[in-house]
Amino acid sequence: MAHLADFDIDVKYKAKVKKTERLTPADTEEVREILLEVKQPDFEVQVDQSFGVLIKGAGDFGNEFHHRFYSVADLPSKEGGNPQITFLVKRCSYVDEFNGELYHGIASNYLCDRKVGDEVTITGPFDLPFVVPEDKTSNLILIGLGTGIAPFRAFVKHIYKNVKDWKGKIRLFYGARSGLELLYLNDKDGDLTNYYDEATFEAFHALSPRPHMSDPIELDTAIENRAAEIIEMLSKSNTHIFVAGYEKISGMLDKAFSNILGSKEKWETRKAELVAGKKWAEIIY
Ligand SMILES: Cc1cc2nc3c(=O)[nH]c(=O)nc-3n(C[C@H](O)[C@H](O)[C@H](O)COP(=O)(O)OP(=O)(O)OC[C@H]3O[C@@H](n4cnc5c(N)ncnc54)[C@H](O)[C@@H]3O)c2cc1C
Repeated sequence: MAHLADFDIDVKYKAKVKKTERLTPADTEEVREILLEVKQPDFEVQVDQSFGVLIKGAGDFGNEFHHRFYSVADLPSKEGGNPQITFLVKRCSYVDEFNGELYHGIASNYLCDRKVGDEVTITGPFDLPFVVPEDKTSNLILIGLGTGIAPFRAFVKHIYKNVKDWKGKIRLFYGARSGLELLYLNDKDGDLTNYYDEATFEAFHALSPRPHMSDPIELDTAIENRAAEIIEMLSKSNTHIFVAGYEKISGMLDKAFSNILGSKEKWETRKAELVAGKKWAEIIY
């Protein structure tokens, strides 16, 4: 797996914050949708890509920059020739169990604090592993946790708008804290709901149960509730599984798929086949 330090940060671009909107209520974890305008027209970003954000003077181990990745959350567009990038960012912080101190994630806090008109330095674009299969009868199981919905929003829009005539099933599973429940899936901002009448598309969300917002998001339950269809999809050789989101998603999915297939061993074997056939792709952060 590539290390962050392996990515090229010599080519840098200036981008301006055009919009920044908090998507979650004030009493929940902060997730913002930010729109950047890149000042150089030659920054060609596509669906299935991420870009880097560089923060000078904040690098670890004496590095000049702190560098972090963010996934493109919408189809690429241009205004006045300048590329526009939409992305989601969660403000990260962590309380150290030993000393009780609060540590703030550098890039996420920097981005959440930017105001309209502020300039940020970006790198990339860099490829994500989510490639649209050439075979339009392929089935896709897309699983996003929290901001992990971002790449799949762009991906689903791309398939139905640009690739067209998709024949395989697309099933999107999305887990979030309660404040984010309807992100992209409600009537107001619901650009994914545009695809609900596509015969091949269905989306399912799982929430953390209120009032205990810190309870685990029941993404595994949402997946297990669709067991029959998932077993049917997994029995086909042209089914792909793409996963994006926070680290805890891995254990959650292993548990859910093991339950669905009847044992841990059966899931490990099927997952190994998916990985070997390049039909499993993930970004975990
Ligand atoms: C391909 C890819 C795509 C991604 N896409 C997105 C996306 O679309 N949206 C998104 O929000 N994120 C995305 N990420 C994650 C993102 O790149 C960052 O990792 C995330 O925003 C946290 O970065 P940071 O600089 O804020 O935190 P860092 O400063 O790197 O800190 C990381 C975490 O550790 C905690 N921490 C800091 N110091 C300490 C300490 N001393 N002890 C204990 N804990 C500490 C911080 O609070 C934070 O939670 C993606 C990652 C990858 C690899």
